[in-house]
Amino acid sequence: MLIKDIRVHMREAALAAENQYAYAQAWTRHRRAIFCEIQTDTGLVGWGEAYPGFGVAIRDFIEHVYRPILLGQDPRDTEVLWDRCYQRVRDQGRKGVAMVALSAIDIALWDLRGKAAREPVWRQLGGRYRERVPTYATGLFHFPGADPMLILQKRASELVKRGFRAIKLACGFGLGRDIERVRAVRDAIGRDIRLMIDANQAYTATEAIQLANRIAQYNIAWLEEPVPPEDLAGYRRVRAAVPIPIAGGEVEYTHYGIRDLIAADAVDILQPDITITGGFTAYRRILVLAQAHNVAVCPHGWVSAVGLLANVQLCAVIPPLPPRLFEDGPILELDETVNPFGRSLLGATFRMEGDVITVPEEPGLGEGIRLSGVAADEG
Ligand code: CA
Repeated sequence: MLIKDIRVHMREAALAAENQYAYAQAWTRHRRAIFCEIQTDTGLVGWGEAYPGFGVAIRDFIEHVYRPILLGQDPRDTEVLWDRCYQRVRDQGRKGVAMVALSAIDIALWDLRGKAAREPVWRQLGGRYRERVPTYATGLFHFPGADPMLILQKRASELVKRGFRAIKLACGFGLGRDIERVRAVRDAIGRDIRLMIDANQAYTATEAIQLANRIAQYNIAWLEEPVPPEDLAGYRRVRAAVPIPIAGGEVEYTHYGIRDLIAADAVDILQPDITITGGFTAYRRILVLAQAHNVAVCPHGWVSAVGLLANVQLCAVIPPLPPRLFEDGPILELDETVNPFGRSLLGATFRMEGDVITVPEEPGLGEGIRLSGVAADEG
């Protein structure tokens, strides 16, 4: 089986006014998705996805940098091809666009590897630890309106009603406002729902410590990205000073980048994103590091259809960290904002009940991705 062609499909849709929101760094008014399609001489097709932040630049990287390396190669040689692509960009592309683009390629290669073997990706990766993947809902951002706290409480209650037992709240809007948001959401959801807080890099270590100490009484499962990602000393300070577990790593790249996070003792919970950090191949190397250092891994998930399927396969193969009789992780982040390129593109192999997704038995990422439409409607 040889790679015949690689195509990139870019999608964008404006969000209706009531579905627009802000996180700590910016307003979100559009939804974008980048899918990568790898065609082979056998007729088998593999699908990947890249985090869409840099649009055209990612398409150019795939088409002009990686495509020439991959054409004519056997897609099942995932380790070798990843290393060849990485070596091509090593000097100027160890992080950022080059790795995001490589993520899409690598996910598509693993989809092909599974389809060629008629096995799900999780079996190709060495087998699954679990048949069902628990998720938590992300969606409590800042929504404009006459009474933002009431909107927040209403949305939080809706998520609980739909069956979510864990919810993440966007913070980083200033200490006073954050404390008000945490109190409002905890009031709305009651004591039994797990509540995570995401500061989206908005604070200094000192501010993050103040925030954590003020909200610890609300039983917070973790505090995510308290400081900018470069501030490893800040991460360490926050982690040493507060009673809440610290999470981070969604914008870190490859096993090399995650190695530095681990070496700095920066986080309790690693959150690499498979559509950013380098796909399955980088992730399996990350998992070896995490296991060796006994650090928990809960994948970041700001993905569309293909990325979601990849995340489900990934969560199936993350080893228990640490192993114990009553396991409680990993828990997958599920984007509960409006995304026209998300679950609506998935076929019957995507099965979710309440907040739990069933790990598919079908080959590759799971058959039934309705992406033929995505490819067909391009001019
Ligand atoms: Ca986050």
